[in-house]
Amino acid sequence: GLPEVPARPVAERRPSRQIQVGPVAVGGGAPVSVQSMTTTRTSDIGATLQQIAELTASGCQIVRVACPTQDDADALATIARKSQIPVIADIHFQPKYVFAAIEAGCAAVRVNPGNIKKFDDQVREIARAAKDHATPIRIGVNAGSLDRRLLEKYGRATPEALVESALWEASLFEEHDFRDIKISVKHNDPVVMIEAYRQLAAQCDYPLHLGVTEAGPAFQGTVKSAVAFGALLSQGIGDTIRVSLSAPPAEEVKVGIQILESLNLRQRRLEIVSCPSCGRAQVDVYKLADEVTAGLEGMEVPLRVAVMGCVVNGPGEAREADLGVASGNGKGQIFVKGEVVKTVPESKIVETLIEEAMKIAEQMEQDGAGS
Ligand code: SF4
Repeated sequence: GLPEVPARPVAERRPSRQIQVGPVAVGGGAPVSVQSMTTTRTSDIGATLQQIAELTASGCQIVRVACPTQDDADALATIARKSQIPVIADIHFQPKYVFAAIEAGCAAVRVNPGNIKKFDDQVREIARAAKDHATPIRIGVNAGSLDRRLLEKYGRATPEALVESALWEASLFEEHDFRDIKISVKHNDPVVMIEAYRQLAAQCDYPLHLGVTEAGPAFQGTVKSAVAFGALLSQGIGDTIRVSLSAPPAEEVKVGIQILESLNLRQRRLEIVSCPSCGRAQVDVYKLADEVTAGLEGMEVPLRVAVMGCVVNGPGEAREADLGVASGNGKGQIFVKGEVVKTVPESKIVETLIEEAMKIAEQMEQDGAGS
């Protein structure tokens, strides 16, 4: 049951330049990173750092903070210094905050050229400041705030329009010999978004930040993001991801990590392989799966635990897993690496699984497989 060979990732990654967002490398073969954005007022330094700490604990690797006012800009230096993960300042409308964020030591700055007035005239200054501080820039194009000229040219935010906008802005930076760039072309429609990123990926070698904007409440947003990111990552496209949900940001991180694990772009941790249940089930599978999930929460080793409602698929699935249970007759057959190691009464299934999981985890850690 030990993972001797790392699982094969979904696809070979698209070759791209690499940038450094603080200590996190993005692009150029670096692991796909997961990011999120705080929902606090950035000027409320305590609350923002508190939320960043929660995000860090949930596995977030890069965090973005909004910067709509001077008070927010003034808070950036402290936040950037005290955050455990790199902080990106998110700038719309006001170019002066781009400079403030660079000065403040933010790990990167996201600019939305579509809504910064006379952005193109300021690229030279921005490029110079960013270069002086080795601060990468994300050119973040959004369908909802697309450059007027492109909106007029294309009539709406088509994939072509999003890509042209992004590459035009990148070309302005290139004129000043600045290439420390990553790009996003977000749209709320996964179909448009997927096409935009495909075109973008074919036309440049910048690392790409994936996102579906306004993806919606947790359920819808999770599905939209998983579908869109899955389509792109399965073609090797995407170097850092942000799941946007109308839900607490730590939820976004959980979803993002799960997407990467599902595609073998990240070592899977605990994975519960539970059956959907059916008319043959001899136990409440949902409840059992929930209890096992809760009991094993926080386990860092890549453990596959099969929870099966009956013995039809139990042994088969359990053989593929490190550990499993197949229920029947008020009892649970506990499998370890495909072998029935014991049969316990239903009431003891959860605790027995947890015990066995701990044993396997210990063994894995000794063997170094959990590192
Ligand atoms: Fe139904 Fe058994 Fe399959 Fe679960 S394992 S779905 S209960 S046949």
